[in-house]
This record gives sequence, structure tokens and C-alpha cells, in this order.
Amino acid sequence: MPTGEHTIVRGGLLLDIQGRTTHPADILIEGDTVREIGPPGMDGPGEAKTVDATGKLAMTGLVNAHTHGHGAIGKGLGDKWSLEHLLNHAPWTSSGFTLEDKRLAAQINAAELVLKGCTAAYDMYFEFPRPSLEGLEAAGRGYADVGVRAVIAPMMADSNLFRAIPGLMDAIPEAVRPHVERLRATPYEESVEACRQILHGWPFDRAQVAPALGPTIPHHCSDPFLAACRDLAADYEVGVQMHLAESKVQAVTGIKRYGKTLARHLDDLGLIGPRFTGAHCVWLDEDDMKMMADKGASIAHNPGSNLRLGSGVAPARAMLDHGLTVGIGTDGSASSDNQNMFEAMRFAAFVSRIVTRRYDDWLGTWEVLRMATEGSAVVLGMGDLIGCLAPGYKADIVFLDLSNVNFLPLNDAANQIVNCEDSSAVDSVMIGGRMVLAGRRFVDFDYDGLRTKAQAACERILSGNAEVRARMEAVEEFVSLHCIGMMGEPYHVHRRIDGGEA
Ligand SMILES: [Zn+2]
Repeated sequence: MPTGEHTIVRGGLLLDIQGRTTHPADILIEGDTVREIGPPGMDGPGEAKTVDATGKLAMTGLVNAHTHGHGAIGKGLGDKWSLEHLLNHAPWTSSGFTLEDKRLAAQINAAELVLKGCTAAYDMYFEFPRPSLEGLEAAGRGYADVGVRAVIAPMMADSNLFRAIPGLMDAIPEAVRPHVERLRATPYEESVEACRQILHGWPFDRAQVAPALGPTIPHHCSDPFLAACRDLAADYEVGVQMHLAESKVQAVTGIKRYGKTLARHLDDLGLIGPRFTGAHCVWLDEDDMKMMADKGASIAHNPGSNLRLGSGVAPARAMLDHGLTVGIGTDGSASSDNQNMFEAMRFAAFVSRIVTRRYDDWLGTWEVLRMATEGSAVVLGMGDLIGCLAPGYKADIVFLDLSNVNFLPLNDAANQIVNCEDSSAVDSVMIGGRMVLAGRRFVDFDYDGLRTKAQAACERILSGNAEVRARMEAVEEFVSLHCIGMMGEPYHVHRRIDGGEA
């Protein structure tokens, strides 16, 4: 919509997350920006187009602080997988994509986000063996096709699971070790040069699709690689997102390899700062959190993925108490199955209850709503553009149908959004003042066409990777055994009521 055109949303309820209230209100939009929020029936420019929101609740679009677009192809592939299993299987679940496949996978991810009330996402997109401008452009194009805002970071490394985890390569029996010895990463200089080209030649409006850097896991990246990412991020003023202390195996690896926590290792390399987001951060200690807060870093909390992969429960309350900005993410659909930010909010609220019995310290409704909107917007580096339904912010608005059974009866809209809503009440979605979804149907995007193309692409990719799959399945049990041995005491020790171990 060109600047200057007016739209007025009338007749709806408005969820005011900052004010912690829900009340009837009209919303005046000019171009892609909210101009005014006022009482029902407020004056508007005569030529303004009206959107009838009667029976709807208008809320700011949810913002996904951590996802992987390529994972859209990997739904339903893993069952009892830990993070290390997921990484072991990545060579066949995530590779062998053509440029068109990359665009398709991003379209699937973006379509699911919209259908589930999310209007922006930070996507760390699989770019192995090396990142490329074409690859990231294809992913960015997929988001732009659907209309979802995105920050896209190439997911990259110059090592891999088998070389990064102490002793793992030696733990693979000789008969099958060649399966993993053949996995080679690209020398970091090539990836750095590719990133420079990506950042230099970025083809999108950064308010719509912005670039970032994603050196995936600290110990999968050499120190010079990480230092180069730090410098590139500063030169081009972009974010850096990394998986940080996600599993206990990773936390133990940090101590074994660097003699310090992974967060401290990154800080010593100069990476921790306002541009930096740590995804997961299940295994941070108090000093890590204090240091990251002091440096202005942020965290993408992925409670669903952390449960699904058995990684543990991130100390979200402690992070907030230390003053860290915490956003909420779903992670990719290969690791946590869907892109449902309503579910992610509920998981965030629920897992906070098993960390402490002091219920004042549990995450409440308004807090998780704020984390999944304003908090995640800061993670994306878009805190002054999105994450808030207020004058001056982009008109990214989700309309929930209050006749949906999740809101029957309507007692407390905010509480029911977090605790009852499963995305089935998402009726319409506006992004930048433009309706992307109306009456649960895409306005411009050909979703039926996507279904046909995506199914065919997925079958071709998986059949092309069948041999790699067989090789990685042959080593899986040895990865399991080694990682279990590294972890020592399990995360939860179940005890009987008398105190004896179950
Ligand atoms: Zn991830």
C-alpha cells in the first residue's frame, strides 16, 4: 500500500499488551504504519478504507525469535531424537536443496507462521557446505512471497558434530567411521567471503527481509571464524544469532575444550553484545546471564524445542531478573514440529512452573505475551518497528475470531490467548497494512500451488539423500552412547517420595 492511503479498523476488541488491558478500539492505519488508536467510532479521513473487525480481537502479530526455514521440509522425520541425534541426521534431512527448494521450504514456513498468527521471524537457514547470496536470496524470496517479515542468517560452521564433540570421532567403530570422516566443512575463509557478498549485495528492503549471520554452534566454529563473523556484523550493522548452551553435551564440551562456559568463550572472542542473540541457552550459569545482560545481548527462548529434544528447561525467569531481553521462538519444524507461537507461549508459561515452587516467579500471561512480541522484536533488531500495536509501529495485526470455541465463553482474552488458543481462531492477518490472510485464506499467495510443489520437492530431496540417511543411521547408536556417557547425571533424577531413586 503506498504511503498516504488510509485504512481504519472498526468494531473490534484491542489487546493492549503494554497497558495490560483489552478494550474496544478503532485503529487508523496510514500506508504500512499505525497512526492512531482511539475509541469506537473515532473520526478518520473520509477516503479511508474500512476493515470490519466486529467479533474479532486485534493483537500485534507474534514474532518468532528463532526458527529454521529449511526445517519445514523435515516435519515428522525424527521421533526419539536428542539435539545430537538431530545434528547427526542433518546431512540427509536438510541438504540437497536446489535454490527453488530453498524458496519452497521458506514459503512453507512463512505460510504456517501466518496461519498461526505470526508476522515476523528470525530464520537461521541451512547453508552447508557454504553460504551463498543466491541461497539466502531464495530463502528471503520465500518469506517475501508470503509477506512475512524475516531476518535471515546463513546457518554455517567450519567443523561438525564429530570433530567438535571431544572423543566422538574415536567413539565411532572403525567399520562405520568412514561414514563420518567423509563429512567435511568448508574452510571458514570461503564462508566469510560469501557472507561479505551476501551482506554487500542484499537485495531486500531490510524492514521486510533483513540479513544476519548464523555461525551455528560455538564449538562447531573455529575461533578465527567467529572473530570474522564478529567483525562482519559490526561492519554491516547486522545481528549474529547462535545456538548457545542448548544441550548438556554442549555445555560439557565447552568446559572440556575451552576450560570455561561457552558464553564466556564467546565473550572472550568479543561476540557478546547488543547484536548478539543466544538461542536456547538452557545451560547458562548465573555469571553467563549477568555477563550477557551487562553486554546488552538477547536470548531466544525455545521451550517447545527444548522439551522435544530433551535439552532441558532454560532459566527464563533468572534471565529476565538479570535484565536480559528474552524473546520466544519455536525453533525449526525438524526439531520441534511446527511454527505455532501460541503453543510456544504456552510452553514458556508452563515450563517456568517446574523450575521453582515459588509461583510468583512463574511466567504469567502478560509476561509471555510481551516476550513473544516486544521481546522477540528486539531479538530481530526491529524493536522500533514491530512487536507493539501502537502509533508509529508497523501495522502488523492478527485478528482472532472470538466466536471460536477457544474464546467461548470470553472471560479474559489475554489469559485465553496464552492458555486456550491453539491458532485455530486466527481469522485474518495484516502485515505492513496489507491483508495477507483474510477469513483463513491467503489473499495473494497460492497456497494450493505450494502444496503440490512442496510434496514433490520433499520426496525428491529425501530419495536423493537415501544413501546418506543409511550411513547416518548406522552411526546413530554410537553417537547416543558417547553423548549419554558425557552427560553423567541425567537432567532429572526421578526420586520416590521416600527419597530413594526410582
Ligand atoms: Zn535452532
